[in-house]
Amino acid sequence: MSVLVTGGLGYIGSHTCVELMNAGIDVVVADNLYNCKKSSYDRIKALVGRDFKFYECDIRDAEGLSGIFENESIESVIHFAGLKAVGESVEKPLEYFDNNVTGTLILLDVMRKYGCKKIVFSSSATVYGMNNVSPLVESMEVGGVTNPYGRTKFMIECILKDLYTSDNEWSICLLRYFNPIGAHKSGTMGEDPNGIPNNLMPYITQVAIGKRDHLTVYGDDYDTHDGTGVRDYIHVVDLALGHVKAVNKVAGESGLFIYNLGTGIGYSVLDVVKAFEKASGKKIPYEIGPRRSGDIATCYSDASKALNELGWRAERGLDEMCEDSWRWQSQNPNGYPD
Ligand code: NAD
Ligand code: UDP
Repeated sequence: MSVLVTGGLGYIGSHTCVELMNAGIDVVVADNLYNCKKSSYDRIKALVGRDFKFYECDIRDAEGLSGIFENESIESVIHFAGLKAVGESVEKPLEYFDNNVTGTLILLDVMRKYGCKKIVFSSSATVYGMNNVSPLVESMEVGGVTNPYGRTKFMIECILKDLYTSDNEWSICLLRYFNPIGAHKSGTMGEDPNGIPNNLMPYITQVAIGKRDHLTVYGDDYDTHDGTGVRDYIHVVDLALGHVKAVNKVAGESGLFIYNLGTGIGYSVLDVVKAFEKASGKKIPYEIGPRRSGDIATCYSDASKALNELGWRAERGLDEMCEDSWRWQSQNPNGYPD
């Protein structure tokens, strides 16, 4: 039996495939290569030292997905595939709803057709919206999201909750990620954004490598210890290991489970800059700019539920996240090869 990993060649998916296979779990990947390179597949294989099946398939292609379920013995699905850029989602809402929401509906329909009722879904801390106060707890009301990307996550959570209500045989795990950064210790896998990075860590690493001149810090007048935004950064390998726990959870029992995957610790933008400078030995020039629209001052998790119910906690600290991000960027200045 295998786990079907949609979006499995992307940043979080690739690290998760490695940890799943390291844990002895067989993996089949479906990815349309929209936001990754095929060489990510070769890097995963090299790290785990064995082959696994990859299908170049869009999750909106019901026939293609059905072919995978016909050919493979799929026990459960980890569903990463989706578009994830907040700013782009404001410009292209229809593309985001189509890819993320329609894609998920088609995937769920095919799963149901083949009697596969176990799914782990990549949700996001963004579903907590603007008004909940950190530390964010799973029992808080979600919604109040301010952009189309976040709304796709909120809508998919609603769809999955309704699906479970309609049929209690499903086993559904919603994982709300906080801010994944870092890279595999080998330096062969990491985050490889297209164009100008939207997120803090890839922007910093591109400044360090000389691709960008300086970092713009989006606001220093927030109500935080140094005025800059505070987030809960989590090492991508810890996040990947959380998926191994989650997929075992859905394999073992039916239910609807919701977990934050974060460290429970908040760091400011300037904390991250300092930690990165220490890890890399590179100076990161920065300028203070205006606040970015839609940003909140502080966002970090209460991570106790995942510890209590999954036996999972993040083990890697900020220094290690920065060292690993830098190793990946410095060894692969242009990301994955074409
Ligand atoms: P990513 O873009 O690196 O990976 C997503 C993968 O899905 C890519 O390889 C892409 O080619 C593929 N994909 C996209 N649309 C597809 C489709 N229609 N059919 C098949 N494949 C498709 O992103 P990531 O950072 O690895 O994020 C994975 C998931 O986690 C996403 O759903 C994202 O929204 C969610 N998430 C990410 C973060 C983050 O900060 N990285 C935070 C919270 C949630
Ligand atoms: N940030 C910044 N400059 C950048 C990118 C991000 O100051 O070039 C800040 C952003 O305002 C937030 C934090 O870094 O306070 C994390 O932003 P990111 O986009 O990585 O994640 P988010 O939490 O917004 O999803």
